[in-house]
Amino acid sequence: MKIAIYPGSFDPVTNGHKDIIDRGSRLFDKLIVAVLENPRKVPLFTTEERLEMLKAVAHSYSNVDVDAFCGLLITYAKLKNAQIIIKGLRAMSDFEFEFQMALVNRKLDPRLETMFMMTNNRYAFLSSSIVKEIAFYGGDICELVPSEVYNQVLRKIRDVNSGNV
Ligand code: ADP
Repeated sequence: MKIAIYPGSFDPVTNGHKDIIDRGSRLFDKLIVAVLENPRKVPLFTTEERLEMLKAVAHSYSNVDVDAFCGLLITYAKLKNAQIIIKGLRAMSDFEFEFQMALVNRKLDPRLETMFMMTNNRYAFLSSSIVKEIAFYGGDICELVPSEVYNQVLRKIRDVNSGNV
């Protein structure tokens, strides 16, 4: 059984992420979308909120699981019996960092393969930070995030802007 892990911050999940989930789900028997809990990064959305949004997006895929992890990705992959890590690539700037991470992970566990999926050109410009930036300043993010999470993202931004968070 081919099990792949798609790790990331997903703060929040975007249409770019959803596109990778959609394509990845067709390539592997099981795809685990894994929210990285990074103690060095302060996310806008809590882990629970990010999980909830990803679950709403993954709901219609029978072979996609949503989970959270902290620590080394190779340790988590071993725990889940996964053989593959999926990463999305948007630009050369993504490549440099991801190339280094892939080599490090291979050094730590040579059996774990990293596979890169090229962004859909419709979403090549899209990142969670861009979504937050646009939403904070009142721009329309309707075409940037999945419809399942649109209201939740707007609610959070509204709360932050009004000082409730
Ligand atoms: P970001 O804040 O840049 O969206 P994440 O950590 O949430 O970062 O991204 C998780 C994974 O999804 C990474 O492998 C990243 O390259 C990929 N990804 C993010 N946005 C896109 C996109 N628009 N197209 C393709 N892959 C993407």
